Amino acid sequence: MTLRPPTATIRTQVALPLRFADGYATDARVFSFDGLVDGGEHLALALGDRTAPPPLIRAHSECLTGDVFGSQRCDCGAQLREAVERIADAGGYLLYLRQEGRGIGLYSKLEAYALQDTGVDTYEANLALGHREDERSYVAAAQMLHALGVSRVALLSNNPDKARQLRSCGVTVAAQVRTGVHVSAANVRYLEAKVRRGGHTLDLPRPA
Ligand SMILES: [Zn+2]
Repeated sequence: MTLRPPTATIRTQVALPLRFADGYATDARVFSFDGLVDGGEHLALALGDRTAPPPLIRAHSECLTGDVFGSQRCDCGAQLREAVERIADAGGYLLYLRQEGRGIGLYSKLEAYALQDTGVDTYEANLALGHREDERSYVAAAQMLHALGVSRVALLSNNPDKARQLRSCGVTVAAQVRTGVHVSAANVRYLEAKVRRGGHTLDLPRPA
């Protein structure tokens, strides 16, 4: 079922030159919005030449530990870095969604990490803390795309739920483009859980 979400509007847009820790640099234009359904301060970063349709879109959920501090417990920092460069090359938008820890919040995510250290996986830990496995919603992401005048996208994602939710909000996902796989000793169990429990399409190395 398709249900177009309430209309959001662009609040501010401003140039934002980016430079990452590894030296990669590109020019972005950052957009903020009025009228997003969940009241979150989500951002859209326009990257590259956006005249060639459909634009490449990444809906990245905020991960303070991974995005800012380079935590190796997950692959978020590497995913974000990859997405910015690939979108800058193809032309499109990075949607930076403030839904930390699959929507459960930063402190709860840290509690889930502590539980994971006792042997449960990332999804089971969320359930044990009284949350759902994945509380993320992409309705605001769809609102942002509509506000930007984007109705048809190529989606950079391995997560089938993102495409499903965007489609249900009236966004045409013309193609789903897989991301790279960023495996480390510290995140391999997390990535395995994403494949097993979240249906993500990731080619992980077989256990030795
Ligand atoms: Zn993360």
